[in-house]
Amino acid sequence: MTATNLALVGIGKIARDQHIPALAASDAYQLAATVSRSGGTEGVENYDTVEALLAARPDIPAISFCTPPQVRYAGARAALAAGRHVMLEKPPGASLSGVRALETLAQDKGLTLFATWHSRHAASVPAAKAWLSDKTVKSVRIDWKEDVRVWHPGQQWIWEAGGLGIFDPAINAFSILTEILPVEVHVTGAELHFPSNCETPIAGKVRMDGPHGPLVTADIDFLWEGDALWRLIVETDGRTLTLDQGGAVLEIDGIAQHAGAREETNIHGEYDGLYARFADLLDTNTSEVDLRPMVLVADAYTLGKRIEAPEFIDPTRTAN
Ligand code: NAP
Repeated sequence: MTATNLALVGIGKIARDQHIPALAASDAYQLAATVSRSGGTEGVENYDTVEALLAARPDIPAISFCTPPQVRYAGARAALAAGRHVMLEKPPGASLSGVRALETLAQDKGLTLFATWHSRHAASVPAAKAWLSDKTVKSVRIDWKEDVRVWHPGQQWIWEAGGLGIFDPAINAFSILTEILPVEVHVTGAELHFPSNCETPIAGKVRMDGPHGPLVTADIDFLWEGDALWRLIVETDGRTLTLDQGGAVLEIDGIAQHAGAREETNIHGEYDGLYARFADLLDTNTSEVDLRPMVLVADAYTLGKRIEAPEFIDPTRTAN
């Protein structure tokens, strides 16, 4: 197999923690270049801008974007316009209309656009989906709570419009929800807590209906101290499915289930899965852009009542 030359754009936390290790472990790719304002990663040629990369490296057909959502569109558009296939970190952009425009461009150019949802590649998500496929879902409770100071130290973009605040992690829950439920859901209400000095919410509740009425309650919190809580509990007629640790662990009626082939994988497995899927899409020259998780977030903003919350001072942020 010939490895596909791939460039990574934005060498921050997720690029270093997940993308670079996943690419190093894969035979399908060669990390051929980076685009980074801060220098990239040792041993890999770096460019200051996407445009400079595109001009200098026609030998790189695939570009993976790990930049914050607010700056994703311009780079991705330039890459597609230059005939390169594109993979996007979640959320795929700062606006639904922007991602739709990228999808149309990819289609017009006959290129692959892959809007990734890494949590869908967590070990127990396929088993949860399979188990629920013939069940009647009575209710879903989502608890998605983590300490932003631990998981996103110093990331100011999260608090700027388009950075999503608490929805940056909570959209992962919505990506699992829309993957495993056998019915469609739609947002009916939300309360969102905005710190007085932030443009995005720090906590909230979101409610969703299924086809026959109230179905989902999501409790989301970025100030949660202690172990992160990333859990969905699905009540069906008489039985309870619990998907815990961000989709890694599955219980039915309190009894742990085996996740099959993916059982021993940790979060690295999610990114192995994402890059394997990108390779499939490249092979078949198709795109995958499922915007349902982002639509739920956009609807929560549309329907959400704004609640003033105390100022948030990030002790991990360095002055600039
Ligand atoms: P991050 O640590 O802040 O890294 C983002 C990188 O993008 C920066 O280090 C910078 O890299 C580059 N960049 C370009 N323009 C920027 C700008 N205007 N402001 C800030 N950075 C800019 O963020 P991250 O945690 O890696 O998250 C990036 C994306 O991955 C987000 O969409 C996030 O939701 C997603 N994600 C994050 C995690 C996680 O656990 N952190 C998990 C899954 C997905 P250079 O210095 O190289 O230019």
